[in-house]
Amino acid sequence: MTDDPSVHRTAPSSPDAGRLYDEQTETADGAAVDGNIHVGYWDSAADDRSLDQATDRLTDLVAGRLAAAPGRRLLDVGCGTGRPALRIARATGTRVSGISVSHEDIGLARTRAETSGLADRVDFRYADACALPFEAASFDGAWAIESMMHISDRTTALTEIARTLRPGSPLVITDVLVRSPVTGDAAELVRRTSRAFGSPALPQPEELRTALDRAGLEVEEFDDIGEHVRRTYQAFADAFADVTPAADDPHYEFFNSTRTLPQFGALPQIGYVFLVARRP
Ligand code: SAH
Repeated sequence: MTDDPSVHRTAPSSPDAGRLYDEQTETADGAAVDGNIHVGYWDSAADDRSLDQATDRLTDLVAGRLAAAPGRRLLDVGCGTGRPALRIARATGTRVSGISVSHEDIGLARTRAETSGLADRVDFRYADACALPFEAASFDGAWAIESMMHISDRTTALTEIARTLRPGSPLVITDVLVRSPVTGDAAELVRRTSRAFGSPALPQPEELRTALDRAGLEVEEFDDIGEHVRRTYQAFADAFADVTPAADDPHYEFFNSTRTLPQFGALPQIGYVFLVARRP
């Protein structure tokens, strides 16, 4: 979700998902976080990082679990416009392949790779997580930052990712998490926000664990870092406060959803998962 929930409006793996990303990625890219299409992470209430710095911080936390190094090759599932992949490649010397179901994402990510002089180590291509165009055991690690929420068949996607990992390699997943069932008025708010994010259903702890288990991945860490990322929702709403969409604006639903993002983000049932699983 986050900097631009607009990008997540439709169920993934459908032709529409890619099209909506195409329409909206430009908005996400130009937003306050310049290409990090995910939440920020703040250490504490006293942490005065900007939203942009805090989103890089989340990327760095992911990188810290990947054992990235020169000579290794990593997979970025749902790469957005490539900023996380390029940041990790630059910091660690690793190679990265990023995939997305948005042609617009891939175009912007490739341009970013060229501009940053990393195109020899980082490549981006259009592909669905549920049918990865890679041989078995191609990667030394993988990550999925806020892409699982878009995928209805998470078991299939995770099984595919597991197939492409060499034995012993980690997968890091971060995503919005519905900690416990939401009822009453809040349920409608969660439904509306999920729709605006393009999520058929936001991940839940047991459902994620079951999908990982079915994919043959062993969970090593399963942390809910919801309190460290909560500031993001208000920050997004502030970033988009001055935008008044016309009723026929293709971003109408997104802009409207940003108005209620703070309420969504304040729900105690809304958390954020940071997990590390491993292919045995
Ligand atoms: N991880 C990036 C982008 C997050 S936005 C970042 O943190 O900046 C979600 C991304 O998941 C988008 O790039 C979207 O195209 C991608 N995505 C959604 N469904 C997908 C699928 N089935 N297979 C591959 N990528 C998918």
